[in-house]
Amino acid sequence: MLRSTSACRSKAAYDVIVSGGGLVGAATMASLQQLRERTTASAASGGSALSRLMMVDVGKRPTYDPANLFHQLRTVSVTPVSSKILDNLGGWGRLTTKHSYYRIAVRHEQANSPLLPEADHTSSLFLRKWLGGKTSTEPLLEFTDLRKPVGFMCYNAELNAEMVNVVEEHAAGAKHDVLKFESKLENIVLPPKSEVDGPWGTATLRTGEAAAEGTFGLLLGCEGRGSPLRDVLHTASLQHDYAQTAFVCDVRLDKPLDGNVCCFQNFFRDGMIIALLPMSEDTANIVFSTTPQHAQRLMGASQAELVRELNQRLHDFAPADIPKIVEVPEGVVNGAPRRKQGSFPLRLNVATNPYAPRAILLGDAAHGIHPFAGQGLNLGIYDVCALTDVLEKAIRSGHDIGNTVTVGQVFAGEMLAHTTPMIVGMETIKQMIYGMPGLACAGMKAINQLPILSTLGKDAIFQVSSGVAFAARHPDCFLLD
Ligand SMILES: Cc1cc2nc3c(=O)[nH]c(=O)nc-3n(C[C@H](O)[C@H](O)[C@H](O)COP(=O)(O)OP(=O)(O)OC[C@H]3O[C@@H](n4cnc5c(N)ncnc54)[C@H](O)[C@@H]3O)c2cc1C
Repeated sequence: MLRSTSACRSKAAYDVIVSGGGLVGAATMASLQQLRERTTASAASGGSALSRLMMVDVGKRPTYDPANLFHQLRTVSVTPVSSKILDNLGGWGRLTTKHSYYRIAVRHEQANSPLLPEADHTSSLFLRKWLGGKTSTEPLLEFTDLRKPVGFMCYNAELNAEMVNVVEEHAAGAKHDVLKFESKLENIVLPPKSEVDGPWGTATLRTGEAAAEGTFGLLLGCEGRGSPLRDVLHTASLQHDYAQTAFVCDVRLDKPLDGNVCCFQNFFRDGMIIALLPMSEDTANIVFSTTPQHAQRLMGASQAELVRELNQRLHDFAPADIPKIVEVPEGVVNGAPRRKQGSFPLRLNVATNPYAPRAILLGDAAHGIHPFAGQGLNLGIYDVCALTDVLEKAIRSGHDIGNTVTVGQVFAGEMLAHTTPMIVGMETIKQMIYGMPGLACAGMKAINQLPILSTLGKDAIFQVSSGVAFAARHPDCFLLD
């Protein structure tokens, strides 16, 4: 039988602890604060299921300073549906940078590289006829919507800092909300997996030398790819080392005439992928997924070498379309000259059972994916929205929010529904582009050009990649109003 909140013994020290205050953790905490306001106002709810909330992050409180070279290094592409959720959470309107883009253009070395010898374009007569024997500057696949943005580019640091500001403002008006930075949970104990809810979970909150033990009704792991809660859950997972590193840098462009509103992505036969993501009228962010050794060479390359290689892999494919890179900005950090660049190892890590009694994983803690489709954070924001929807229904029905049947399992089903099509689609595209480049190019061109296939194919891709398919599954969630 399901235990209802009212049947529970003395109250836990915290109804919910959010472990991790990154982009997903801060959004989760803000959504719980709003859900509390909604459910407390409702006479039927009892109103106390979310009265004590805590967010804990091992790092420093996030801040954003546009003058700091590295606060603008990491960027995210945010879908229209994610932007709506972030807006309802109170963070979106505060951003100074949310550069809209209206077009995505995809090319492949096989069809578009001016450096590839003609003989290497394809050995198949059929593919040569369909793709054309010569190098083309035309994109293989293109998404354009001139009426409304296809997506928005933001700075991670600004979004994170603003979401924490939102959380702090809500916390100031609440009695028991606690935010702890430079702190972490240790000695986490959850009820046995055989229980549907069971006794409160326990954990020790460590801040420097100080340690305090406490109980919780639900622990939400938003700790990113290295989530320690994931280890506590002993959950099965799909793992794959891509043997790739994302080399990331900021670039200044020869100002494009269209206002710089297009994302460009070029694929290579050896599996490398480079993206130019517009950040302002004349700047862009580069995400170059390459081998770890190559990424290291790019990190150490001179300014001229780096700009030359980036232009060879982007601008030279379509000089009239892809903007020319002029420089990778440099500055002084702690007295030393530094370039606006960094590198991030890439791994697929998807938990197939992201829950246990009194614990749930969200965001990268549950599903760390390749960044080439720009979807990692978006899937995390959809997790937040789906969990909010599930929790609201559980609270209004008087169920224990740490229950695996009414919350954990239901949420896991929702998470799988929005992550699986995206992850399977991305992995298939990635494998094809690497293993069967000629066929992949032909497929992209067919989706782009063949009348019925183009309408249906592009629509299906758009439904999933823009978040529209996700939103259709959660018509009642207040974060999508
Ligand atoms: C190069 C690159 C480009 C990307 N581009 C895009 C894009 O365009 N669009 C998109 O949607 N996604 C993109 N992503 C993915 C996106 O950045 C991640 O999906 C997103 O940041 C995940 O957010 P998160 O909050 O789950 O994890 P994180 O951002 O990793 O945050 C985790 C938080 O948990 C804290 N933490 C860690 N351990 C503990 C602990 N033990 N206790 C407490 N706190 C802890 C950390 O300090 C951090 O604050 C990209 C990723 C990369 C690498």
